[in-house]
Amino acid sequence: MSGIVPTIKVVILGDLGVGKTCLRSQFVHHIFTNAYKATIGGDYLTTSVTLDNEDQAKVNLQIWDTAGQERFNSISQAFYRGTDVVVLVYDITNYESVLSLRDWFTKFIHHCHVDKPGVIVVGNKIDKQGDRVVDKEEIREIITNNTEINVGEYIDDWELDLIEVEAKKLNLVEKVFQRVAVIGMGLPSAKTTIQSFDAIYLNERAPEVHSKCAC
Ligand code: GDP
Ligand code: MG
Repeated sequence: MSGIVPTIKVVILGDLGVGKTCLRSQFVHHIFTNAYKATIGGDYLTTSVTLDNEDQAKVNLQIWDTAGQERFNSISQAFYRGTDVVVLVYDITNYESVLSLRDWFTKFIHHCHVDKPGVIVVGNKIDKQGDRVVDKEEIREIITNNTEINVGEYIDDWELDLIEVEAKKLNLVEKVFQRVAVIGMGLPSAKTTIQSFDAIYLNERAPEVHSKCAC
């Protein structure tokens, strides 16, 4: 096999507190960089994923997280630019966080400069079933109706692309990023360069990454 592994830019969006940082920390523990944090208000972590299909192809996911600016609605355009797959996250106990996905997606589409990015919708905190305020049917309705830009036009398969998880369950979180990798690999924009120029390689379990998250 050739040494070139495609790299897919992934951004995680959603309201403050839905669990974006926890989801990423649960999944990624290989390469850490905070080179962009100060300039564009986010940072990425890169991890390699082996597709769970016949060819077992490898793909690098460069996963971007905000540094908390969603609170002020001030995420820079550079954060969105060139994104292959966007992960829209809501909290199943927070109705507002579902409504917000429409605005997040609209903003994303205006700034990503990609014709047809991939989209996956993730509901987090299913360990809090008792506090659930919304179900999948409603979510689909909310995010596909009354929007300037219809998320539905970017979703291939609702069965696979609307997933509910809890950040503590690695197997569920892995399912999300496996799907992200599959979507990314199917896009014409899938990149074929390795963007590791400013990444710092750490060992398998980087404590810096895990220590940031309470879950
Ligand atoms: P972000 O603002 O979207 O990055 O959210 P964080 O990742 O910082 O998480 C916000 C809060 O939600 C933290 O207190 C987490 O511990 C908590 N949290 C994250 N994921 C889960 C989950 O799956 N279940 C529960 N019960 N709490 C979670
Ligand atoms: Mg965060």
